[in-house]
Amino acid sequence: MAATNTILAFSSPSRLLTPPSSNPSSSPHLRSSFRGVSLNNNNNLHRPQSVSFSTRAPSKALTVVSAAKKAVAVLKGTSDVEGVVTLTQDDSGPTSVNVRITGLTPGPHGFHLHEFGDTTNGCVSTGPHFNPNNMTHGAPEDECRHAGDLGNITANADGVAETTLVDNQIPLTGPNSVVGRAFVVHELKDDLGKGGHELSLTTGNAGGRLACGVIGLTPL
Ligand SMILES: [Zn+2]
Repeated sequence: MAATNTILAFSSPSRLLTPPSSNPSSSPHLRSSFRGVSLNNNNNLHRPQSVSFSTRAPSKALTVVSAAKKAVAVLKGTSDVEGVVTLTQDDSGPTSVNVRITGLTPGPHGFHLHEFGDTTNGCVSTGPHFNPNNMTHGAPEDECRHAGDLGNITANADGVAETTLVDNQIPLTGPNSVVGRAFVVHELKDDLGKGGHELSLTTGNAGGRLACGVIGLTPL
C-alpha cells in the first residue's frame, strides 16, 4: 500500500503574537493560508516536493526594522563655541549632516570627523581625521581625501555656521561607521590639502580645535 502523506492544516504562528486581550475572530488580518500537495511516495519519488506557503499578518505583529539611522553630536569646547550636528542616513545611501554651530569668528572654519570618540583630554584626544582608507588630506569632493574631510563651514557675521552637508564616506552602519567617532570644528580655514603648508596634507592646517562632540545614535 502506498504511503500517502497529506498535510491537512497549518496553524499560523502569527496567532501567537496576538495579545491575549484581543479576540482573534475580530482580527480579519490574522489569517494565514497554506496550500500543500498530497505527497504520494509512489508517484512523486522523482519529483521535487514543492509546497507553497503564504501568510497575511498585521504589520504590528511583524516588526519591520527600518534601515534608516539617525545620530547626533553635541559640540562643546573650552571657548564659547558650541553646536549640534545631526546625521541621517537611509539604507546605504549618503549621509546628510545638518550643522549648527555658534560662537565662531565670522568666516570659514575647518570641519572634520575625527577618528575617536574620546574627549578625556578635550578635543585633542579625538585623534586625527577619520581615515579608514589611508589617504592624504583633501577636499570633500576629492578622490584622495580622508573620509572625515568635510571641508569648511562658514560662520556669518553673528558667528553662526548653519549648513547641511551630504557625504558618501561617513556611513552610520557597517565597518566604516562613524558612530562613536567625533566632529571637530577648527580655529582656521581648512586649506583642503592645497595650501603648501607642512600640515596641509594631514590637517589642512586648520589650526586649533575649538569644539568637538562624540557621535551617538538618536531616535529617528
Ligand atoms: Zn583630513
